[in-house]
Amino acid sequence: MGERSRWVADVDAHPGDAPDLARAVLGRLVGAGVVVAERTDCVLGDVPGGYAPGPCASTIVTADPVDPAALGGFPDVWPNGLEVDVGRTAFYGNIREDDRVTCPHCAAWLPFETVLPEVEEWLEGGPDSLVCARCTARTALNAWQWPVPCAFAQLGLRFWNWPPLTQTFVDDLKRHLGHRLVTGHSGT
Ligand SMILES: [Zn+2]
Repeated sequence: MGERSRWVADVDAHPGDAPDLARAVLGRLVGAGVVVAERTDCVLGDVPGGYAPGPCASTIVTADPVDPAALGGFPDVWPNGLEVDVGRTAFYGNIREDDRVTCPHCAAWLPFETVLPEVEEWLEGGPDSLVCARCTARTALNAWQWPVPCAFAQLGLRFWNWPPLTQTFVDDLKRHLGHRLVTGHSGT
């Protein structure tokens, strides 16, 4: 079984603001007891550690409708931490190579495997948009229609193996940041 993560991406955060916003969000979560303040080896991402669940972690999660009896062993699983991603990060849902990524202007589509190199280029500092070969419109990666939620952001939270996050949590976070958020999950 693959590892599962729930993520929330701030698609409006500017690169210069992302570190401060990340610190503020983390401070709120630590203050609420959702995660602990110490950074430890509890996440899988390319970051120097994450933040393990705190005593009130369950206040921001909800039982999985598919498996209401269990929280999947949470929080006693590994990895089980919060990863805070600052800087260009691609947040993918469960997407396959031949899934369609669709132009919002003309409905032409590209298979994901064709878009992936463009995303890789963005991660390395390239443009955050993609030109449609049919209508020639240049559209931000986030504005293309993705078959499952995906986001390309300067700031995001990734909860490893956490049950679904409550809408209340996401709404509070959105209010605090004052930005558009995209939520999704990867893994089964
Ligand atoms: Zn188009």
